Amino acid sequence: MTALHTSNPEYFNDICEAIRLFIDTRRIERLESTSVPSEGYAILHTLEGAEGMMTSTAQLYADGNPVAKNTFTVAMPQGALEKKREAKRASKISVYRALLHFFKTPLPWGSLTGIRPTKLLRDSETLLGSKGAKALFLSTFDVSPQKYEFAKAIVDAQTGLYPGENELDVYIGIPFCVTRCAYCSFASYTPDVFKDAETQYVQALLSELDCAKKIIGSRHVRALYIGGGTPTALTVSGLEKVLSRASELAHHAKEFTVEAGRPDTITSEKLSLIKASGADRISVNAQTLFDETLLRIGRRHTAAEFFESYELAKKTGFNAINVDLIAGLPGETQAHVEKSVKQVIGLKPENITVHTLAVKRASAFAAANMDAFPTDKQNAQSVEKAHELLESAGYRAYYMYRQKYMKGSLENAGYTQPGKACLYNIDNMEELCDVLAFGAGAISKRLFLGGVRIERAANVKDLKGYIERYSEMADAKRALFY
Ligand code: SF4
Repeated sequence: MTALHTSNPEYFNDICEAIRLFIDTRRIERLESTSVPSEGYAILHTLEGAEGMMTSTAQLYADGNPVAKNTFTVAMPQGALEKKREAKRASKISVYRALLHFFKTPLPWGSLTGIRPTKLLRDSETLLGSKGAKALFLSTFDVSPQKYEFAKAIVDAQTGLYPGENELDVYIGIPFCVTRCAYCSFASYTPDVFKDAETQYVQALLSELDCAKKIIGSRHVRALYIGGGTPTALTVSGLEKVLSRASELAHHAKEFTVEAGRPDTITSEKLSLIKASGADRISVNAQTLFDETLLRIGRRHTAAEFFESYELAKKTGFNAINVDLIAGLPGETQAHVEKSVKQVIGLKPENITVHTLAVKRASAFAAANMDAFPTDKQNAQSVEKAHELLESAGYRAYYMYRQKYMKGSLENAGYTQPGKACLYNIDNMEELCDVLAFGAGAISKRLFLGGVRIERAANVKDLKGYIERYSEMADAKRALFY
């Protein structure tokens, strides 16, 4: 059992994120008093403010005995929002450091638990300058020098690629997949559900898209992205309808991406349709090039099928093809990841994305035997090796993000050949421009005050609910953007 008592219950969930960096548990008991249980781990946390300072203290107990303590003090900021942000940070830092003292394994991203470290670094550089931001990452958040350099290189690589004020992105979601990957936590539907619902879904989506042109108005669509799910899981006729509508919106866009994703959905007919619609980028995702792993993770396609689909895409002629890989899959070692990365590099795709497995609660892996997965140390070595191989082949990391429950507290990173970065990925992860999003589960965002405040309109995830209520989703977007 793992338990937490905090003097500030409003930060309970934030502190739990820091605890889970070290203790692999979904459930953390909320202690109502400071009486410590005699079994398992317990953390007693206090946060106090006095004389212009904020002090967070975390005391860790193992089986009822005090084993580590940390106190972190920071100057009390002025505004209410800043106070709240600093209180969360200080709480997580003291808990992280107490746990680190006991477990003795520093984590690559230190006490950072957010999904956008590069956005944090960029914002920190604006506020504190380069040196101040570096000190914040290294000395306050305890980020490793290697990960700081990685984040810094990404921020630098994004120079000149940020959107203009009058630009926005458009996202269209297709929540269908031919099978469900064992690590999937998205709301995606397999053919047993969507084969009868596809026509209605496409119709609802096209109807929802009716509001797009008016909302876009005089602004420019910078990037249009059709994702999912797997858009190419649609029938030819469904795909044609979606592409046709999307291409009207993408007319002057700087890029138009279709995530083909699963090699087992890719045919030359669908690729030709995608190309004819004006889309200039697609993803063909391998994840691994080992058939036994592909079977284990529920992909139901082989490495040979990936190579065939990739070649078909190459022949069709796109400006950029992305290939996704995952480190940390069950039964795989660093040697497997290295071999997959080398083979994919051999194909010379313009973009390669290296994910680290995240075992989310909604995925089939959440109930799997964890002994089958590589250790955190092995994952860190795999990711490091992939990075080295990609860099020496001329690729550079250009965007990254982290997820909850990532193995080894690592990251997902997109690499690109020079001049081929996907703008949508940068915008999405750095939260740099408004996003007008359509389809089940899609989330529209509008930035205010240059991104200091972000408002969202989230579409319902449930397929049936979306088909019945798409017009409400369009109304919510109008309310957000007008
Ligand atoms: S392809 Fe993506 S969305 Fe589809 S099941 Fe796999 S992880 Fe989920």
